[in-house]
Amino acid sequence: MNEHDSEQMLRLLESFHYLETRNAKEADLILINTCSVREKPEHKVYSALGRYKWLKEKRKTIIGVAGCVAQQEGGRLLDRIPYLDMVIGTHAIPLLPKLLQKIELSGERVCETNYDQDGEYLKAVLPEKRLDKVKSYVTIMQGCDHFCSFCIVPYVRGREKSRPSKKIIEEVVHLAEMGVKEVCLLGQNVNGYGKGLEEGVSFSGLLHSINKIEKIERIRFTTSHPKDLSEDLIQSFSKLEKLCEHMHLPFQSGSDKILKAMHRGYTKESYLEKIDRLKKVCPSIAVTADVMVGFPGEEERDFEETLDLIQKVQFDDLFSFKYSPRKGTRAAQFEDKVEEKVKQERLSILQEIQKEITLRKNQELEGRVEEVLVEGQSKQSTQDVTGRTRSNKIVNFEGDLSLVGKLVPVKIEKGYAHSLRGEIIFNCREGN
Ligand code: SAM
Ligand code: SF4
Repeated sequence: MNEHDSEQMLRLLESFHYLETRNAKEADLILINTCSVREKPEHKVYSALGRYKWLKEKRKTIIGVAGCVAQQEGGRLLDRIPYLDMVIGTHAIPLLPKLLQKIELSGERVCETNYDQDGEYLKAVLPEKRLDKVKSYVTIMQGCDHFCSFCIVPYVRGREKSRPSKKIIEEVVHLAEMGVKEVCLLGQNVNGYGKGLEEGVSFSGLLHSINKIEKIERIRFTTSHPKDLSEDLIQSFSKLEKLCEHMHLPFQSGSDKILKAMHRGYTKESYLEKIDRLKKVCPSIAVTADVMVGFPGEEERDFEETLDLIQKVQFDDLFSFKYSPRKGTRAAQFEDKVEEKVKQERLSILQEIQKEITLRKNQELEGRVEEVLVEGQSKQSTQDVTGRTRSNKIVNFEGDLSLVGKLVPVKIEKGYAHSLRGEIIFNCREGN
């Protein structure tokens, strides 16, 4: 979502006489978009600001902080960083040109962190020219009503708010015209899509509508909450040919005691049942998830339950984190903190186990033919292009840039820990 917000800000700035540069030294404006979901990315904001201080002194560069840390800290950021010009909260992106104008004209320092009840922040800034990429994010909802005890998101992104389906569809049609072949629908809890809208549309209903849009070849979405994963949505995997066979379904912990303390609203057993249903309806589905270790009160046996869940599901990949207390959340007050050393040990054990599973799953694809959407040149070699399978695995293979945007059949020759190597096997189908 942050990546998408950065792109939206860039588009707004382009329409306001700014151009993108990769070189900070020549920038007139540096905007740092931020995440506060864990402590580490939050710290990075302050070190980035430190790095740019001399630019402010030398070039009078305008410096701003946007996103979740901006929302969380507000005016405190201006107090703490005297050379900071702008603090722009999660709902304030549409105000960016106006705020910049104010700074340019008066030199005033600005802070905008009000929550916008009208949902202006959900309006997309559409690209005006053909995009040089084949995939795009599309926000369908923002915010979260779940209040998991560890999570800062509801406090920095506000309550759940869905975009009207008509607006989403218009955006996807426009993106298709601009060359996009794959859309990834974004929301903190996409299964909750439709709540509060008068039109009475569900998430699977929205998927059905997007599936009909010409020139769009693939649909993905993220993130789903296990509690709200409906049978309707599960069935969509067998009904919608453009919906890619990949589900990211964070479980956080395999221990019922910890899940309860996290206020997640499901048990290990009910999570496993959902995975079972998904695999029955769509046997080729790839499943990935988020998990954390070291939540307050996590004992060795709770951690064992997490490892057991990982072995039972055999995830294609996992994003794993050490629990990081977030000020203002309920869990930050919990006693029974787990020592940093124990957290690190548990994380290493878990990651070792998952590494083996991921490698084995990738190797299982050797010899199979996968449909790949070609995205661009591979980072490793100018002779190679890179793309993803429907199950979201990266594949590198020999080919030239004329393949970009096309769906090609690729025979998988080798499965590695983070990607696959393959060979294109016959004439490709033109993407529309
Ligand atoms: N809405 C998604 C869900 O409920 O599954 C997750 C969104 S959250 C921004 C992304 C991931 O960050 C979470 O799934 C969780 O694993 C991790 N996370 C959130 N808060 C955390 C914290 N306080 N410490 C460590 N990891 C955290
Ligand atoms: Fe955070 Fe996800 Fe829980 Fe919402 S559902 S509070 S975004 S972890």
